[in-house]
Amino acid sequence: MRVDVVTIFPEYLAPLELSLIGKARATGILDVAVHDLRTWTSDVHRTVDDTPYGGGPGMVMRPEPWGEALDELGPGHLIVPSPAGVRFTQPLAHALAGEPRLIFACGRYEGIDQRVLDHAAERMPVTEVSLGDYVLFGGEVAVLVVLEAVVRLLPGVLGNADSLIEESHADGLLEAPVYTKPAQWRDLPVPEVLRSGDHGRIARWRRDQSLLRTARRRPDLLPALPPQALDRHDRAA
Ligand code: SAM
Repeated sequence: MRVDVVTIFPEYLAPLELSLIGKARATGILDVAVHDLRTWTSDVHRTVDDTPYGGGPGMVMRPEPWGEALDELGPGHLIVPSPAGVRFTQPLAHALAGEPRLIFACGRYEGIDQRVLDHAAERMPVTEVSLGDYVLFGGEVAVLVVLEAVVRLLPGVLGNADSLIEESHADGLLEAPVYTKPAQWRDLPVPEVLRSGDHGRIARWRRDQSLLRTARRRPDLLPALPPQALDRHDRAA
């Protein structure tokens, strides 16, 4: 997958060198280029913002540098982080993981002039993506979040691909709690069933815990489950 990130703070994207994203880049699964938006400015002050039409507080990112940047980098699926975007979810991460090329446009200030998105939409898919119902300073952190979720879905990135099947949101439920050694820590034992070696019982326990956790913590997820996602035992749990 090829990824381009355009930002006025390229250094904010330094974590893309680290951990499994860094490894995916080193192994050629992922090709990332981070670009400074000011490269595409033409005035001596390398201006990227101006006052909003219609008045109001703050500044808006001017369309010219964005237009130049996207003309040079496109086409690709343009992702624009925005609190007004669609909520970022695991299904969206899966959809984006199937794209050959993503271009991220990091907004700052009050955001990017709307015409940039409208113009880009004439020649490439454009998706405004929100991390949640709160407001950040800029889109860079959102890019890190989206890329972590997307890159770990790319074939060959995770050592054990089964991790993707069993984790939270893979099947619309939250994952059951996890434990490791020692079997007894302070006064807390690991649940007996997990030490039983009985794989059928363990699978059933995990499924029950997954359902219980989801019902208690995220009941909003349950109505979205397709009917065939729940078996007879699930309904009893
Ligand atoms: N004035 C904008 C509004 O009310 O919708 C908020 C602008 S915010 C201060 C600056 C930039 O941060 C946005 O353009 C976007 O790139 C990013 N951002 C802020 N909150 C975000 C969120 N919840 N999800 C994704 N990106 C966000």
